[in-house]
Amino acid sequence: MVAEIILNSNAKELNRVFDYNIPETMFYKAMVGSRVFVQFGNRKQLEEGFIIGIKESSEFKLKSIEKIVNENGLTEEKVELAKWMARRYFCNISECIKLMLPPGTTTKIIENRIKEKNENFVTIIDEEVVESDIEEDKFKSAKQVRILKFLLDNGETNLADLLLFTDTTRDAVKALEKKNYITIEKKHVERNPFFHKVERQSKKLEFTEEQQNAYNEISDKMDKNKYEEYLIYGVTGSGKTEIYLQLIEKALNNNKTSIMLVPEISLTPQTVDRFIARFGEENIAVLHSKLSIGERFDQWNKIKSGQAKIVIGARSAIFAPVQNLGIIIIDEEHDSSYKSESTPRYNAKDVARYLCYESNIPLVLGSATPDTGSLYRTMKKQSVLLRLNKRANNAKLPEIEVVDLREELSKKNKSMLSEKLQESIKENLENKKQTILFLNRRGFSTFVMCRDCGYTAKCKNCDITLTYHKSTNKLKCHYCGYETKVITKCPECGSENIRYFGTGTQKLESEINTLFPEAKTIRMDVDTVTKKNSHEKILTDFKENKADILIGTQMVVKGHHFPNVTLVGVIAADGSLNMNDYRANEITFQILTQVAGRAGRGEDAGKVIIQTYNPDNFTIECVKQQNDEMFYNTEMRLRKQLKYPPFCDIIVIGVSSKDEQITMKVAQSLHKYLKDRVENENIGIMLYKALPAPIDKIKNKYRWRILIKCKFGEDIIDLMNNTMEKAQTIKYCKNGDANISIDVNPTNMI
Ligand code: ADP
Ligand code: ZN
Ligand code: ZN
Repeated sequence: MVAEIILNSNAKELNRVFDYNIPETMFYKAMVGSRVFVQFGNRKQLEEGFIIGIKESSEFKLKSIEKIVNENGLTEEKVELAKWMARRYFCNISECIKLMLPPGTTTKIIENRIKEKNENFVTIIDEEVVESDIEEDKFKSAKQVRILKFLLDNGETNLADLLLFTDTTRDAVKALEKKNYITIEKKHVERNPFFHKVERQSKKLEFTEEQQNAYNEISDKMDKNKYEEYLIYGVTGSGKTEIYLQLIEKALNNNKTSIMLVPEISLTPQTVDRFIARFGEENIAVLHSKLSIGERFDQWNKIKSGQAKIVIGARSAIFAPVQNLGIIIIDEEHDSSYKSESTPRYNAKDVARYLCYESNIPLVLGSATPDTGSLYRTMKKQSVLLRLNKRANNAKLPEIEVVDLREELSKKNKSMLSEKLQESIKENLENKKQTILFLNRRGFSTFVMCRDCGYTAKCKNCDITLTYHKSTNKLKCHYCGYETKVITKCPECGSENIRYFGTGTQKLESEINTLFPEAKTIRMDVDTVTKKNSHEKILTDFKENKADILIGTQMVVKGHHFPNVTLVGVIAADGSLNMNDYRANEITFQILTQVAGRAGRGEDAGKVIIQTYNPDNFTIECVKQQNDEMFYNTEMRLRKQLKYPPFCDIIVIGVSSKDEQITMKVAQSLHKYLKDRVENENIGIMLYKALPAPIDKIKNKYRWRILIKCKFGEDIIDLMNNTMEKAQTIKYCKNGDANISIDVNPTNMI
């Protein structure tokens, strides 16, 4: 018997299927999905791999498998999923398998994990240096290599976990620190931030009629063991979560497992609390990137052992090792975080659809502002639309007012806050109510410009305008992390007339502090939430009324219920409208509607003030009227006319390399290959010529791309896989000088 094996390795030359002989003594153990160790080439150490197929014989002379460990292997279903994904997302099977493995790779069982207040955290200083030094075999110690590889895969890890998972010693880590590969830093941590005592218990609520109808539809499919996709499209506060809770309860009663995906940013303890209050902590597992690797490992085991029958997690939780799946629910389904922007470039909604179809169970998507793609599926009867038009607890939808910022300018009001918004904040403070001020930062940043010659400071690696950070007085690149001291003199013309542009949260905060010295403010943006759990702490403090005004970016939009917030102010709605992306309207509509939905969720009615330079814009008008039907109808018509998704699919073939000439050559030769095929075989796609990407350099790599508009399907999947294969015959791709990626409907068009 012969096993087809995929090695668990990043190395390019190892990314294919290898045949190995299965020794007779191992017949009983060898299964599709088994974890194996094999000898490869003349390497001394055994390589880890997975069996992805078993056959009678092979035409080659084969080495034998050395060891089979079935603990922490994969199921046959997961292997099938990995194969499906590799074809569907044009990547290697091993890259997909990685998503399905338990956190860390050892079989060690972690018991009695120590609860420390301060822990040592280990981080790699420069990943590129480490990668190339490993490649060049610069390390004599296998332990050091294990440590570095582990850190490359898992990022910052606490020292205790690192030693446990890599089976190494403190000395090996210290040696790497001495050689300046890593840093060890003491940090304060909380164990299991998502689980704490939830005293309150919650009982099933009596459904409204709309909720009941939606529930009945889906529940019926669960009874019949049938696949069906649903889109619950319900206004904010219409009680979608209550429907999810009762569907999960039904699955639980039938001893089935549920997966519930939520956007990374709204996966907070508060979100999880609602589930704990209903089902108890023992039934729930949470998978989230904010957990330490040890915590993630614990959660993984809780699922794998069958103890936790409810999995709540961000995108990658779709790969949790569940058995006997009963339902998959994807909340806030329009959120862009469900699409992975690095290889494998999968969309969790596609994967969920595959899993539900294979398991004959319903898939439930939910949103107050659905993705146009999901709505289109309901129009084509690929998905069933379930509408909830009323708020469940009879809270009124907020009143929305639009303020024309151009008029403020003519009134000589130079503040970021219009007179109207200032008045409303004042009134709200007097009434002891809370306010959220939202900065639509998409498409905006604070940057430095010379007023005399127009020079702007850019990142030397990425050709991106650097963003000014007041707290550290530095200029930072948001793509690669490069930072530099703030300039006071123009390097081009020597002028000292340097100005800071943009509308940052910090500037807004100081303005508020001047206008309303008595008001307590909290600010939430990328600067203030980098620490573990600080995102959560800010929101909890605000919820507990420890501040009057919350100032923030996108982060404030999600996942929280603030009953005392009666005023929401949008500082400038325009940033995302001017984005260089066909989804600019949709994203703006979603952000503004979601942020407006934060107002008046309690007993008192809410008010929303949207400031804009484009009061007549149709998207803003639709938000103001809270008329989503008008918005979606118009937007769909526009997309159809201009041939944009969902009426076609956009594929972006990306080429990157440190060498500009190589980047261009590879892109052009792939374009030629595609052009020939399209012409000779009469393939119905729109192929655009190879061009530098809008941001043509990131992290010192040049970027070109080829854009394709088409109807995505089996023939296109084949064509793209062929293109990938073609790329691997180009010498620059083979030797690793150039990288190719193929992305279908990327969320980021840069
Ligand atoms: P959504 O998920 O659609 O934003 P939620 O499920 O969070 O809405 O519900 C909003 C509020 O309405 C919550 O406070 C919830 O407890 C309440 N609620 C939901 N369903 C009902 C119901 N059937 N009867 C009374 N209150 C409800
Ligand atoms: Zn200048
Ligand atoms: Zn940069």
